[in-house]
Amino acid sequence: MTSSKRVRFKSKPVKDNFIKDLRQRVDHYFESNNISKHANAEMYFKTAFAAVMWLFSYALIMSDMFSHSWIQLYAVYMLLGFVNIFIAFNIMHDATHDAYSASKRINNIMSYSMDFIGGNQYLFRRMHGAHHGYVNIHGIDVTLETHGQFRFSPDEPWLPKHKWQHFYTFGLYTLAHLHWVTVKDFKWFFGESSIGNQKNIKHPRKEYISLFITKSIYYGLTCVIPMIFLSASWYVVFGAWIFMHLLPGLTFALMFQVTHIYEGTTFPLPDEDGNIDNNYALHVLETTADFSRTSKLGTWLMGGINIHVIHHIYPQICHVHYPALTEILRETCMDHGIDYHENETFGKALVKHYKILKHLSKPDAKVARVGKSAALV
Ligand SMILES: [Zn+2]
Repeated sequence: MTSSKRVRFKSKPVKDNFIKDLRQRVDHYFESNNISKHANAEMYFKTAFAAVMWLFSYALIMSDMFSHSWIQLYAVYMLLGFVNIFIAFNIMHDATHDAYSASKRINNIMSYSMDFIGGNQYLFRRMHGAHHGYVNIHGIDVTLETHGQFRFSPDEPWLPKHKWQHFYTFGLYTLAHLHWVTVKDFKWFFGESSIGNQKNIKHPRKEYISLFITKSIYYGLTCVIPMIFLSASWYVVFGAWIFMHLLPGLTFALMFQVTHIYEGTTFPLPDEDGNIDNNYALHVLETTADFSRTSKLGTWLMGGINIHVIHHIYPQICHVHYPALTEILRETCMDHGIDYHENETFGKALVKHYKILKHLSKPDAKVARVGKSAALV
């Protein structure tokens, strides 16, 4: 069981040599190239591309050209859904990590891209922060917390329905985005008082107001206005709106899940004093895997979610720098004899995700608590 004490990473100095070396090499990369750790021209182009694609998709819907055929209307709505996921991976994620800009104000403004695509930037910052701080630690990594729906870690109490989780999980992933925009934010605002390590949370009043205003704008813009102005029946538009969240939601969930929940990952637990016997960088290397690292197009479209290890070690660096930093990370790992987990393709990552879901479907599933690098003393 997870200790009720505050969880901390506490490692022996010899293990810290790796992170010291990595830090020096990363700093040297930015200094020698004389570049900022935040957005560059490529990132500004991506931002403009996302805005143009959103306007284009929305204009296609509102043009009424596709309303005569529900299949065509569903298709243009789905395009908007994928643009929303592109915004989530490429703009929102960086902004909520304060990685987009050196300016706090610009990061705050860009973070509202989360509300624009149906989420809530305030809650995302808190919840995603709790995931970042405690990857794969049961009880405080909120991405493992599914109220018993899935068994993503061996410390999640086993339920009979988990026997089939390697089948139903993928079906439920398609509902991930829809659930997020309609249920999840409200549930965490009104039904939960703790997030990860933070207990008895009181959300600021302005965030409740913001939640209702931004949700109304999202529902209004993407569902109610098209229902009013398109010639298609309201229920066809509503069906298209629901459909907009499904395949993009599945894509979003899988891209994220395969990076932490895979055959070969570890599920460390703190000792009775709340200490994890590792430093954070090594902990990430034991609980996180990259995929499709060499795919330039994949990395561009996914906003570097696929090269996830470096993101966890340096979340406040803009993702456009991750390909170069991942090469530095790999070299540093090699020099220190530390394992770096990766899958060459998304297909291979998916198979490993399926395998661990199947493994954890059994009540007596055993998994690794520490990896090879944690054993380096
Ligand atoms: Zn993140």
